[in-house]
Amino acid sequence: MNPTDNASRDLLRKIPQVNDLAAAALADDETTGLPRQVVLDATRRVVERLRETILSGSTGSLSPSEFETESLAGKVREEARRAMKPRMVKVINASGVILHTNLGRSPLSIRALEAVVRTSRGYCNLEYRLDEGTRGSRQDHLESLLCALTGAEAAVVVNNNAAAVLLVVSALAKGREVIVSRGQLVEIGDSFRLPDIMSQGGARLIEVGTTNRTRLEDFSNAIGPETALIMNIHKSNFKMVGYTEDVPLSELVELGRQHFIPVAEDLGSGSLVDLEPFGLEGEHTAGASIAQGADLVTFSGDKLLGGPQAGLIVGTAEYVEEIRRHPLARAVRSDKMAVAALEATLREYLEPDSALESLPALRMLSEPAEKVKRRANKLKRALGGSDSDSLSCEVVPETSRAGGGTLPTAEIPTFCLSVSSKRVSAAELEIALRGREPAVVCRVHEDRLLFDLRTVSDDEINELAAAIAALA
Ligand SMILES: *Cc1c(COP(=O)(O)O)cnc(C)c1O
Repeated sequence: MNPTDNASRDLLRKIPQVNDLAAAALADDETTGLPRQVVLDATRRVVERLRETILSGSTGSLSPSEFETESLAGKVREEARRAMKPRMVKVINASGVILHTNLGRSPLSIRALEAVVRTSRGYCNLEYRLDEGTRGSRQDHLESLLCALTGAEAAVVVNNNAAAVLLVVSALAKGREVIVSRGQLVEIGDSFRLPDIMSQGGARLIEVGTTNRTRLEDFSNAIGPETALIMNIHKSNFKMVGYTEDVPLSELVELGRQHFIPVAEDLGSGSLVDLEPFGLEGEHTAGASIAQGADLVTFSGDKLLGGPQAGLIVGTAEYVEEIRRHPLARAVRSDKMAVAALEATLREYLEPDSALESLPALRMLSEPAEKVKRRANKLKRALGGSDSDSLSCEVVPETSRAGGGTLPTAEIPTFCLSVSSKRVSAAELEIALRGREPAVVCRVHEDRLLFDLRTVSDDEINELAAAIAALA
């Protein structure tokens, strides 16, 4: 329909004025509690949508009653209520991806959450020495714990690991050269590319070796008067197989020592406990890197560590001090909530066995598949045991993933509840689950929904069951 024609013009004239409509919406008793500005904005959106419908010519779907002020005011209130709801909501992660970056990576332990509430509701001694009544450092709460857990001389914590790497390069190699193997020039995701970090840090990147093979002599041949740093970067999110060769960290350290050049290792995930007993190979601990002589090691707080977002830098006192004093350190410092949560998370590791239980990420990574199966059966029972008329459910073996660019090839045996509907496609069901509160994120495979119980906790089973039951 041509927007200038008479029918459209008549309809457009029927739309109430924004102010009148907002006043009608606000006049309603139920509206108490909806801020005026939110109602006004909602009114503009409702009016704008109505105009667009008319101008697009799809007026066939409009009934005259839709132009009545009361009916439109109802829509405005609905829109305003939606706008008042928090956008950031709880998600039940049934995807089986443990360190799901889009879902907030690592969930926090109870003690980490309690520490945040305890120290952030009122004031805390973030940078205050209670013993002397003088200014302190936020690093004081973390450094000795990190040193105890990794064997390092010193430590400094920043906002995230990308910032940690940038800071290491800026503080140690600005205006000079950093040598890196071509096989390690990784992109971590969302524009974090190692070569870009080097140039942001003001360093010249010297690439050595080839994509698949780099030898010690490639590094030693590249060393010159401008060399400031040798970097070893964990490949994190990909794996190279076949005809490959990497230089072990210990050999890089020896080479660095001969030439008085520091060696930094970016571990990415950086676990504090050995995960091999759980079949998760390929990650060595931050402590192992320090033991092999790395001068600096960087890793994330919210990957395998299982804590808040943070970038942890551990190493020799001399280099850590240079990093701490660099102007960028202030720009990328951690906030008090992250410091509180990280301190509590690190304390969990003082008892490594109980850390595997108390830190959700570690618990999910290490839980035996048989225990996951019990939860899958519990979910099935909560749904009424046997198949309902419209949904069919069965517990099936599957594989979970570590996620967060960690352990990319690790296939963690798990059990899923597989659900399908006789009437509705799995793709449509998956959309409905995402729109709920709490939202549910699951996998879709061959027109079935897969709910991986490895990443669903015991106390989420009932909510998840309710969400699935609502699909029927
Ligand atoms: C994840 C990762 C980073 C970035 O860490 P963030 O904490 O996400 O900033 C850097 N380097 C490597 C090798 C990584 O795996």
